[in-house]
Amino acid sequence: MSKAKTEKPVCVKPWHCPRCGADCSGLTNNTKDQGEAVGYYITCHCGCEFIHWENVTYEPYGVEVDGETYVYSGKEGDLRLTIPTYNDQQEEPCDYSRPNLVTLRQETGLRVILGDPDDGNAPDLLIERTPDRWRIIVHPDSSDPMCVIEFTEKTATVTPDTSDTPVLTQSRGSQERV
Ligand SMILES: [Zn+2]
Repeated sequence: MSKAKTEKPVCVKPWHCPRCGADCSGLTNNTKDQGEAVGYYITCHCGCEFIHWENVTYEPYGVEVDGETYVYSGKEGDLRLTIPTYNDQQEEPCDYSRPNLVTLRQETGLRVILGDPDDGNAPDLLIERTPDRWRIIVHPDSSDPMCVIEFTEKTATVTPDTSDTPVLTQSRGSQERV
C-alpha cells in the first residue's frame, strides 16, 4: 500500500473533478474494465486527470486520482444508479455519455433521490405503502412536499400539498376520468 503524496480531494462525488469540483459528466476519454468494475477516464477542464469507478451493476463506487481511490459518500445501504440523458431531438435519444445519478434509499418507505444526494436541494420522491394504496410524496427540493400521488385499486389521484382535494383523479385500468 503506497501512501498518497497528494492532499485529499476537495470533492468526492460521482463524475465530479476531485481537484476543482466541476461536473465532468460527458468528458469521458476512455474506459477500462477491471475485474467486476469499470473505470471512466476523465480529464477535467482544469487539467486534472481522474477515473470514475463503477461496479459491475454500474453503481458509482469511487474516484481515483494519482493512484488513490476515494469511495463516494452516501448513507449505508444506498443504491446508486446512473441513467442516461434522454433527448428525443437526437438521432440516438439515450445519451450514455451524459449520465445522471439516481439514489434509492430505504426509509419507512423508499426515497428516490434525483441527482446528487449530498446536494441537499435535489428533488426526491418518497414512496410509501399503506394498507390500501401506494403513495408518492413529491419533494421539489429539501423543503415541503409539492403534491402527493396516490394509487388505490381503482383510482389514481394527484393532490397538492396545500389541499385535501385532488386536482386530478383518474380511474385505473382505463383512460376514463372520474
Ligand atoms: Zn477540475
